[in-house]
Amino acid sequence: MAAKKSPKIDPKAQTVEVARRLAISFPEVICELDHRNAFELLSATILSAQCTDARVNMVTPALFARYPDPWSLASADVSELEGIIRSTGFYASKAKNLMGMASELVERFDGEVPSDLDDLVTLPGVGRKTGNVVRSVVFDLPGLPVDTHVGRLSRRLGLTKHEDPVKVELQLNDYLPGSEWGPFSLRLILHGRRVCDARKPKCDECSMADICPSAGVPVTAPTTKRPASSKKTPAKKTPAKKVVAKTPAKKVVTKKAVAKKAAPKKK
Ligand code: SF4
Repeated sequence: MAAKKSPKIDPKAQTVEVARRLAISFPEVICELDHRNAFELLSATILSAQCTDARVNMVTPALFARYPDPWSLASADVSELEGIIRSTGFYASKAKNLMGMASELVERFDGEVPSDLDDLVTLPGVGRKTGNVVRSVVFDLPGLPVDTHVGRLSRRLGLTKHEDPVKVELQLNDYLPGSEWGPFSLRLILHGRRVCDARKPKCDECSMADICPSAGVPVTAPTTKRPASSKKTPAKKTPAKKVVAKTPAKKVVTKKAVAKKAAPKKK
């Protein structure tokens, strides 16, 4: 039987409608990283790479008490700083980025966080996502941060086909007024956390179910089972006289080892 074709979606009209419904579901726009000013939000967002906002919020009170401004952070003792932020993961590179960011603020921006995206992305550890978070949340300027939730949901909802976060951002920017960019991103993140989970989307409870092309579509979660072909089999005995070139054993790289080695990308 031929598969049922889903109706063609106009991504712009779909984005506008999704934004409208999100605004009803989440009237309050909330940035879940605790902060009191641009410097704190910038620091917290750098720490949030590969880490939950809840974990970052546990660390930042001590961080901001010890280093309340760019001057104190720029001259921090690295080991002490690493100790404070250790539980957020990748603490060595995050400490380097935090101190580098603070030094640049002091040297180039008189200790102030710039609001221009072109300036923000020149700071260590700051990419378009972080820059747009700061712009939209603190400065109330247009900025659409595309994190994993925003990218994933935009594709699920048929707003874009792009995988590249910058392409997703620019496409969505075309569909919404600048004043909506930040709130749309924050609401989509909340929707991703509370309703449209990556592995178990709650389509039955979702306000988008009637317009979402992915509603009820089973999610293909990455399998943890080893494929049958790669299962370990007892080594065959090599005939005594046959000369076989030795193949070096493959190094098993555990998730833990990868996590330890990899440094967080600019967000
Ligand atoms: S209908 Fe399902 S897949 Fe679509 S946005 Fe809602 S929860 Fe996600």
